[in-house]
Amino acid sequence: MSDSGLFCPRCGEPVEGDPDDRPLPPDASRAARRERALCDACYLEGFDLVDAPESAHVRVCAQCGAVHRGERWVDVGAEDYTDVAVETVGESLGVHVDAEGVSWSVAPEQVDPSTVRVHATFDGVVRGTPVQESVTVPVTISRETCSRCGRIAGDYYAGTVQVRAAGREPTKEETDRAAELAHELVNEQAETGDREAFVTEIAPAEGGLDVKLSTNRLGERLARRLVEEFGGSYSSAETLVTEDGDGNPVYRVAFAVRLPRHAEGDVIDPGDGEGPVLVRGVHERVTGRRLATGEAYEAPAEDVADATTLGTADDAEETTLVAVEDDHAVQVLDPETYQATTVPRPADLDPDADTVRVLKHREGLHVLPEA
Ligand SMILES: [Zn+2]
Ligand SMILES: [Zn+2]
Repeated sequence: MSDSGLFCPRCGEPVEGDPDDRPLPPDASRAARRERALCDACYLEGFDLVDAPESAHVRVCAQCGAVHRGERWVDVGAEDYTDVAVETVGESLGVHVDAEGVSWSVAPEQVDPSTVRVHATFDGVVRGTPVQESVTVPVTISRETCSRCGRIAGDYYAGTVQVRAAGREPTKEETDRAAELAHELVNEQAETGDREAFVTEIAPAEGGLDVKLSTNRLGERLARRLVEEFGGSYSSAETLVTEDGDGNPVYRVAFAVRLPRHAEGDVIDPGDGEGPVLVRGVHERVTGRRLATGEAYEAPAEDVADATTLGTADDAEETTLVAVEDDHAVQVLDPETYQATTVPRPADLDPDADTVRVLKHREGLHVLPEA
């Protein structure tokens, strides 16, 4: 230890070490500069290791557990508000910059449903001397309803996707997928931190399904995804419903999705004299396979817009393959009459199969392709 030849400005004792060696931030206050000149004993006497607020307040959503921070609600997945209280206190505490090797332990104490007392003990080293300080911060918790839960409770919605199909009802597969996609898109939005995305309602409607969503953006994305997957088209129409608190217009937008006349799995008669087609794709072009031959089929969607639907692959039944007659014909058991019936042999038919899937429709009986 070197004797600096200086004396403590408070008690007048000689000061050990050189005060100028002690770290001091460039923006240190006059008070901090004065404290630095004190002897260790005087310095430690008035030393506050921790700067803690007298109390803290947390707003949580009683419905979803979100916590209000700054100006907005944040999802923290809190099941236990003591964790939220500890975190809030942790963020509001300040540790003296001169302390080194600081560690702390914390113990929350639930006093009643809306109060958690957070006890925290800090240890550190100041001017080579270990110091310890304990603080207790009472945290009051108020249970409120966040903006999203308020909107959900009020059945708020901004966009409606009307899932319809041209000349038919949408299939169960299509409506199930629409509902599934709506939830997927909401989850995608939520993962980017968007709390305002939710599904308000999914309900059957005249000629299809209506999906009500919290934002127009979600509505647009759902409409676009449905058309990407199933073909068809969509249009939108907006209605002014109200003004928001700042006088800005608030619009509701209806997205009318029109799925194509034919869906994947339909068996249609294109009316070209070459027999029924099992539909595989329904975008700008309809693609599929001829049932009689197994040959590939492709045509612009508008060319088959009026084609008759004979059935769907879901209606096909498993039946016995009785005999292979030649390259063009096989005998199968008619699933209704149980009589051996000669039908066209598709190119990909496995002649060793015991059974095949057949579709009986008003134009006859056909073997369906396997996959
Ligand atoms: Zn002193
Ligand atoms: Zn909430």
